[in-house]
Amino acid sequence: MVMKKGLLIIYSGPSGVGKSTVREEFFKDETLRLTYSISMTTRKPREGERDGVDYFFVTKEEFEEAVERGELLEHACFVSNYYGTPVGYVEKLRNEGKNVILEIEIEGAKQVMKKVPEAVSIFILPPSIEELKNRIRGRGSETEESFNGRVETALKEIAQKDIYKYQVVNRDIKETAEEIKKIIHKEMEA
Ligand code: ADP
Ligand code: 5GP
Repeated sequence: MVMKKGLLIIYSGPSGVGKSTVREEFFKDETLRLTYSISMTTRKPREGERDGVDYFFVTKEEFEEAVERGELLEHACFVSNYYGTPVGYVEKLRNEGKNVILEIEIEGAKQVMKKVPEAVSIFILPPSIEELKNRIRGRGSETEESFNGRVETALKEIAQKDIYKYQVVNRDIKETAEEIKKIIHKEMEA
């Protein structure tokens, strides 16, 4: 029997909407066979973040080299830092039948949609902009400049939510995770 190639799932939403918190919840469901694609970034690690786990933290020069060598499936600049998806790892995992989650912003998502038309795309929305601001502030990780940049970018991203196949509002962490599980199960059966 030939193994079915795993899904490529684009998982986006404004910074601070709760993507990683919700992701931790739906990753508990092993029947989804999920793996997380670890991105490369030039952003500095936040407290508690680990190199090779949350991101591969690199210098601008290292990032540019990876781009030149064609090692990234997509890449984008987000609030003054570069972020990108190493391509080799994603393909290897999909060929093993694993479903790969790309937690990426919208410009990178557009590149993936073009290159991989069968990719499934999900956009997470906040209940309101006020609540989004509270969540970013609540995380306590941003300078004022980075906070403003993230809110400004959020408004632009939300305006384009319809390019994603699915939109889910993150009110309650567990309920949002359940909705995403249903979407992935449905796509696995398609
Ligand atoms: P993202 O990964 O989208 O940048 P995080 O997962 O870091 O966002 O969440 C940002 C903050 O919002 C965190 O402090 C997190 O605990 C909180 N948060 C996430 N989901 C919810 C929710 N449904 N209700 C209230 N707070 C939430
Ligand atoms: P943060 O700095 O909050 O970790 O991430 C900022 C934004 O960059 C988030 O929207 C996050 O999903 C996105 N991001 C993380 N990794 C990648 C990536 O590899 N490519 C792209 N295009 N965006 C990414």
